[in-house]
Amino acid sequence: MSEKLTEIFGIDVFNETKMKERLPKTAFTALKQVIEKGGDLPLDTANVIANAMKDWAIENGATHYTHWFQPLTGITAEKHDSFIEPAEGGKILMEFSGKELIKGEPDASSFPSGGLRATFEARGYTAWDCTSPAFIRRDAAGATLCIPTAFCSYTGEALDKKTPLLRSMEAISKQAVRIVHLFGHPEVKRVDVSVGPEQEYFIVDHENYMKREDLMLCGRTLFGAPPPKGQELEDHYFGSIKERIALYMRDLNQVLWKLGVLAKTQHNEVAPAQHELAPIYCTANIATDHNQLVMDAMKKVAKRHGLECLLHEKPFAGVNGSGKHDNWSLVTDTGRNLLDPGRTPNENIQFLLFMTAVIEAVDKHADILRLSASNPGNDHRLGANEAPPAIISIFLGEQLEDVVAQLIATGEAKSAKQGGSLTTGVRTLPTLAKDATDRNRTSPFAFTGNKFEFRMVGSSASIAEPTTYLNAIVSETLEKFADELEAAENFDQAVHDLIKRSLTEHERIIFNGNGYSDEWVKEAERRGLPNIRSFVEAIECLTKPESIRLFESQKVYSETELRSRVEINYENYSKVINIEARTMIDMASKLYIPAVIKYTRQLADSINAVKSACPVADISVQEEILTEVSALLAESRKALKELSISVAKAQEFNIASETAMFFKFDVFPKMEALRAPIDKLETIVDAKDWPVPSYEQLMFEV
Ligand code: ADP
Ligand code: MG
Repeated sequence: MSEKLTEIFGIDVFNETKMKERLPKTAFTALKQVIEKGGDLPLDTANVIANAMKDWAIENGATHYTHWFQPLTGITAEKHDSFIEPAEGGKILMEFSGKELIKGEPDASSFPSGGLRATFEARGYTAWDCTSPAFIRRDAAGATLCIPTAFCSYTGEALDKKTPLLRSMEAISKQAVRIVHLFGHPEVKRVDVSVGPEQEYFIVDHENYMKREDLMLCGRTLFGAPPPKGQELEDHYFGSIKERIALYMRDLNQVLWKLGVLAKTQHNEVAPAQHELAPIYCTANIATDHNQLVMDAMKKVAKRHGLECLLHEKPFAGVNGSGKHDNWSLVTDTGRNLLDPGRTPNENIQFLLFMTAVIEAVDKHADILRLSASNPGNDHRLGANEAPPAIISIFLGEQLEDVVAQLIATGEAKSAKQGGSLTTGVRTLPTLAKDATDRNRTSPFAFTGNKFEFRMVGSSASIAEPTTYLNAIVSETLEKFADELEAAENFDQAVHDLIKRSLTEHERIIFNGNGYSDEWVKEAERRGLPNIRSFVEAIECLTKPESIRLFESQKVYSETELRSRVEINYENYSKVINIEARTMIDMASKLYIPAVIKYTRQLADSINAVKSACPVADISVQEEILTEVSALLAESRKALKELSISVAKAQEFNIASETAMFFKFDVFPKMEALRAPIDKLETIVDAKDWPVPSYEQLMFEV
């Protein structure tokens, strides 16, 4: 198996090795040049590459190609074209031109554009992103050559998540290179953003899933009483993996490895039926594409196993939800990780400067980061005592916190605490070298050794936006730093002053304690840190003057693009809650309420039957249950009516932000009011009369 793995890894990717084998040297060099330095590929070179790509794809069974892109829906989109061209005698040729490789023209009018495009203005273009390799995806459609592309409108605005990401990578590279040059490394030409996203997910049985309208339409349960056993025994986390899941993971790994995804770690997560997959990190753009492939493969492979993969942030109330940790760092083209402190971070001034830039950026633009991790699903997690809190803070760990304290006090750090060693008290066990820093699970933004880990991101979200925003805010700070340092007469002194000044100003964002505690909420408020409680309340930060200045100065988003993102965010929230509310109405009226009515009828029949058979028998239990069930039934019906009225009212607003606010503050509470009595009923009504699989079945029947 391990030998075979080296053979199958990347087999379906048109990677550098294959390009080198199959392309004439001049074409290969020209392409490498564009990948590394940018610029346009001459059309005849593109023709040569397209032809080689097509031959390779056809040899591997492909009949179609597609420009694969990432519209603002958050998932990927594709339109397949076969390679066929008519030839003489009723025959066909298999063709693929450089033009078709470089540019596509899908109809843009049916993708979210946030007002950038009216329905009648349909033109949009996809453009080949040659920095992310083409690949063959295999599914029931056969083999399809997928070409990663960016997607923009006729007027040039980005209609996707990839374009701003690529822009942000260029921005931060430019500024980071300036800093690195100041530290005497002129050989560095580019700084890459590296990203490793850890992906959490749930797996449930397909049969159970199909009986739950809420799971099918919304990806999460909208009703459901807590099972007798949840995650309290902590026996699922890192537990032995069930055979059926293991088989699924094995298959999933094979699919991903063939696609060149460096799937590395797999384990059971905290909640029952919850798992995680982590790849080895790579360049942000490819990591983002790969994470989309991971999510897609997770779902498809699950179906092949009679399972369903839930990527929603909160499929079940009462147990942990799922997130995605966006591990982020900066690496030079000479292979140096700029966030690696080394053993003595106090002496590593270049590291300290980059660390300082991240701290300043995160403090200045905490609201933007908060938004980048927000979606309707993540509202159930952030600040709800399980995932990181909604307040952004940075965990540095003991060692760096101590270094920062020294820097603030004197402008110089003379020492760095070392981890030392750890003895277990057992002679036969090895002495372990201890890290200089413990972990902190509650921090939304933690330094973890040689990278920052942004842990607020939702499990279903693309990592494009969190990474784009992070790149942009750090890039802005690095630019400011570079301007100041390039103008300084005494560089060493200027760096010292800058680090001391910036850390003193932005120290408030550093917090090493328990982010779940109530004291932290108060402390954060005292420090003046924003505590934005929900997605809809976070959206408006994108068009604050300082945000517009930030994104425009870094050339990541234009103001028009930002305004369109705001619009899309509000619309997205309203649409999701609207669907959830309507699904609840449907389930309550057609499933739960009828089932409970039937059950009351059974109880009443039983009471009458017992009464007539034995007038002196004690029927108080049946009567008590009937009374309680009937009361809850009445409460459900009332809540259902109120929810229906609220949903109808929500349709009357014309302004996206107002609609979203109404959904958040009027519709959503009414959804919870409907859920409460029905969940209570589930604990009383005979299990065989309950119309949908229970939490217990969903979480434990795999
Ligand atoms: P943990 O989060 O438990 O510390 P790891 O250190 O293995 O686990 O890292 C988790 C994720 O972070 C993996 O996807 C890993 O590849 C990624 N990662 C590790 N180093 C870096 C780095 N320098 N830049 C970006 N991601 C990284
Ligand atoms: Mg981690």
